Amino acid sequence: MNVKENIAEFKRLLEGTGCKLVAVSKTKPVGLIREAYEAGQLDFGENKVQELREKPQQLPGDIRWHMIGHLQTNKVKYIAPFIHLVHSVDSLKLLKEIDKHAAKHNRVIPCLLQIHIAQEEHKFGFHEHEAEALFENEEFKKLSHIKILGLMGMATYTDDLEQIRKEFRGLRAFFDKLKGAVNLPNVEMKELSMGMSDDYRIAIEEGSTMIRVGSKIFGPRIYH
Ligand SMILES: *Cc1c(COP(=O)(O)O)cnc(C)c1O
Repeated sequence: MNVKENIAEFKRLLEGTGCKLVAVSKTKPVGLIREAYEAGQLDFGENKVQELREKPQQLPGDIRWHMIGHLQTNKVKYIAPFIHLVHSVDSLKLLKEIDKHAAKHNRVIPCLLQIHIAQEEHKFGFHEHEAEALFENEEFKKLSHIKILGLMGMATYTDDLEQIRKEFRGLRAFFDKLKGAVNLPNVEMKELSMGMSDDYRIAIEEGSTMIRVGSKIFGPRIYH
């Protein structure tokens, strides 16, 4: 894998689309992250708090760290001082915890609501009606140290490209609906995080503003 070349290729692909790249560096060593950084990449995604506690200390301070994996409430405190965007908010309980720790650090932490769009049942996320209910919730409306900047979704793991397209298109439609309907100080619908190594082209066509790409940049992951 030539990380620098891969970053350059994504830059060319995304030029003029309004879509940004989050390079997903989970399980990958800081050396490879540094290569991507030297190619001009500043946004990196991790899915484990443990890696977010270790890697930033060894890397340049202008890197923007994105949390893209399931976040446990008891681990929010470790990433609250610096996290750039939490893509994977899946409960009001988690939002309240993020808000509490953001306040301690005098910050407003940008968040995306993870929306369940896949056919698989195990994936985390709000169903559409639950997300709509959240925006009516009085406790939610009081949270002033988080800001909902948009939605995140993961399509079904399948070769059926039409199924994937349908799911992304549905998420875009829901995003547009909320954008027109929700008028709250802690909500500003502008980011739609969808698309990974196997489906980013479809995601861009369907209106993604942020693709999260790991293996297409850093090579396949090996889990032990
Ligand atoms: C791992 C991961 C990605 C990137 O996956 P690739 O297929 O390697 O591009 C994107 N989003 C989330 C939430 C992930 O966990």
